[in-house]
Amino acid sequence: MAADDSAAGYGGEPTPAELRDLQARADALTRDIAAMRSRLTAQSHLPRNLRSALPESVDRGLARASQRLSAAADGLARVRAAQWLGACTTGWGICPHCGLTLQAEDDRSWCEACGTAWDYDRSQGPCGERGVYLAMDELGGTVLVCAAHGRYLSERLDGGLLLAIPEL
Ligand SMILES: [Zn+2]
Ligand SMILES: [Zn+2]
Repeated sequence: MAADDSAAGYGGEPTPAELRDLQARADALTRDIAAMRSRLTAQSHLPRNLRSALPESVDRGLARASQRLSAAADGLARVRAAQWLGACTTGWGICPHCGLTLQAEDDRSWCEACGTAWDYDRSQGPCGERGVYLAMDELGGTVLVCAAHGRYLSERLDGGLLLAIPEL
């Protein structure tokens, strides 16, 4: 175990590296089980049901687990990358050019207006575009938003205010 594993503590947000590590263990176990199946099935003196005790469906279950772990690691890395200082803080995605025009299916998404496509569901998770406006609600709270989310909010903010952040 690395030193920072214990410092971060268990029960907190996992890291993409932890998920990749778990995936590597699932892959290794898949290979070990396949090797064990070969050895078992080769033992002609054993009862047939014992020789076939490790069908390929066992590996397939593990292969699915490995794919899920990989997808979770990718998703977590993407969420973390979107949370840079100065990024739009909106917790859901938008087309950075057109606004609320995203369509999503099977972990892909695309803009039905301009055709831009992403190999993940952009409508889920933090926006991550560069923040250019401070949006102020009627209670005086502010959030940093990108140009597209700013446009979306300015059409809907009731008594709220949109402040452009000067370019530095
Ligand atoms: Zn678009
Ligand atoms: Zn945004």
